[in-house]
Amino acid sequence: MANAPFPLHSAERVAAVRLAEALALPALEKGWVWLAGAGPGDPGLVTLLGLHAIASADVILYDALANDALLKLARPNADLIYAGKRRGVRSPAQEDISRKLVALARKNKRVLRLKGGDPFVFGRGAEEALALARASIPFRVVPGITAGIGGLAYAGIPVTHRDTNHAVTFITGHGADGKLPALDWAAIAQGSPTLVLYMALAHIDEIVAKLIEAGRASSEPAAVVSDATFDRQNVRVTTLGELAHVAKESSAPAIFVIGENVKLREGLDWLGAMSGKLLNPDPLERLSDAG
Ligand code: SAH
Repeated sequence: MANAPFPLHSAERVAAVRLAEALALPALEKGWVWLAGAGPGDPGLVTLLGLHAIASADVILYDALANDALLKLARPNADLIYAGKRRGVRSPAQEDISRKLVALARKNKRVLRLKGGDPFVFGRGAEEALALARASIPFRVVPGITAGIGGLAYAGIPVTHRDTNHAVTFITGHGADGKLPALDWAAIAQGSPTLVLYMALAHIDEIVAKLIEAGRASSEPAAVVSDATFDRQNVRVTTLGELAHVAKESSAPAIFVIGENVKLREGLDWLGAMSGKLLNPDPLERLSDAG
């Protein structure tokens, strides 16, 4: 090809672009911003559109929670800008990131904003998209696998199961002001059999107290999944009553789940099974009841 857009050594990147072409996926055009989810960690959990955007972008602004191994597929001359929080270091202000996205698009760059999980789930993706809309910058949103679903799946915990929960509530434990969000915790405790908590390490004591006060049993199953979907993933199964204590030993990022569905891990910890753990095929003790 006379005008091959990629250097010859970037076979993997070319493969990502070819794959996108074969499936007639849209191209990341100059002057556009794509807000894409990278998934919770395992690079295999990025979408084809996300991969295509990584391989095409002139500039990638990526978050701490987006696995930067994916950036290996970026163009060699792509500008890779870290726009996340580092421990103890102030994160770039949200307005600065939005301003930067607008400025780069106006310079006619192909801009990728790569976020952990799904960009629209507790990720401020909507704020950035609104800033683009206000500036009349064309954008596309590429959903991703959110930690509260995919991360739990890697822990062998399904977010729903018809024998345990017909509903699930996703909650952030951290409001914009850093405090516990002013939710109706009693209504949540009573109305939703399964609760999935993001960003809850700092306020887990308070959350647990509110749930128990509203009538949730302290014996209810609960789990904390740290670094979900990474090789270093760590799962701690406990009870609601012990959850705050267990959280103290858990590192960020961590996703919390409270509900009977946690029991299913005994039968569904497929990662554990790969390293020899014996699965219980009847974790809810249904078959033995029937017999
Ligand atoms: N947009 C992201 C969430 C961003 S909020 C998503 O859809 O997943 C950041 C919170 O997400 C963290 O505090 C943590 O609760 C959760 N999280 C993200 N990645 C995680 C991971 N690999 N393991 C555990 N929790 C994770």
